[in-house]
Amino acid sequence: MTVPVLRFAPSSNGPLHLGHAYSALLNFSMAQAEEGRFLLRIEDIDIARCSRYLEEGIYRDLSWLGIEWEEPVRRQSEHFDDYAEALQNLIDAEIVYPSFMTRGEVRAYISDCEAKGVPWPRDPEDAPLFPPVDRQRSTAERRRRMAEGEPFAWRIDMAAACSHAGRNLAWEESGSGSKGETGLVIAQPELWGDVVIARRDLPASYHLAVVVDDALQGITHVVRGRDLFQVTAVHRLLQELLGLPVPRYHHHALILDASGRKLSKSQGDTSIAALRAAGAEPRDIARMVGLGIP
Ligand code: GLU
Repeated sequence: MTVPVLRFAPSSNGPLHLGHAYSALLNFSMAQAEEGRFLLRIEDIDIARCSRYLEEGIYRDLSWLGIEWEEPVRRQSEHFDDYAEALQNLIDAEIVYPSFMTRGEVRAYISDCEAKGVPWPRDPEDAPLFPPVDRQRSTAERRRRMAEGEPFAWRIDMAAACSHAGRNLAWEESGSGSKGETGLVIAQPELWGDVVIARRDLPASYHLAVVVDDALQGITHVVRGRDLFQVTAVHRLLQELLGLPVPRYHHHALILDASGRKLSKSQGDTSIAALRAAGAEPRDIARMVGLGIP
């Protein structure tokens, strides 16, 4: 029998709040219930916004909550070589292309089209899809612009990637999406358009790093917030393209604030550290997120 392997993967760009506590406690208790392993991964590819100071706070909060994880912790910023290798596979397969358009150029292109009465397609988070301009450039132009040192990001050619991967992408979901999707979920990565796979300055993006790491760490069950349900389609696509194993997924409900909005790292009052300083005990946190013993 294979031992379940679960992980909690916070970004070290802000203090943990009640939403993280819920995700971490749920992961930990699911791992324990299945006699599985529990790993912690620090998602710090955004080196400008992440810090060791915030990372130390994550360890402090999780220990205080009674969560135990295996050492060493995987810190993404120490594994850029792994992401660069995966990126190179996608470059060699001609599934990604360099995109040069600036945000301003993208905005102008889209408003031009909309001014002509063409409604611009949007992704599941309501952001406009990336225009086809960079995808259509010639190899010679791409080479020239790259050689001249123009900044660019690697984007997936979604149509090419989908035809490469085949149409039958799905994942096994034991939680649910916001419309109650559960069981075998059909992945529709095309809804996201040509997403960024690696940034200008780094050989990684969240999407690339998360699938590479889940595979390298042998994760069998990905337990995370429902806000990442839709984008799992992109992760399934990358797993297929890179020949990576497919974990099961469990997307859980989000902890909302009094006005029904998702908690954010800028709302200091729900941070675990602030609640602890105000006298809360770990069992109070568990109760507040609905995981306490009644
Ligand atoms: N690092 C992501 C976050 O903090 C979570 C990624 C994941 O669990 O796949 O929202």
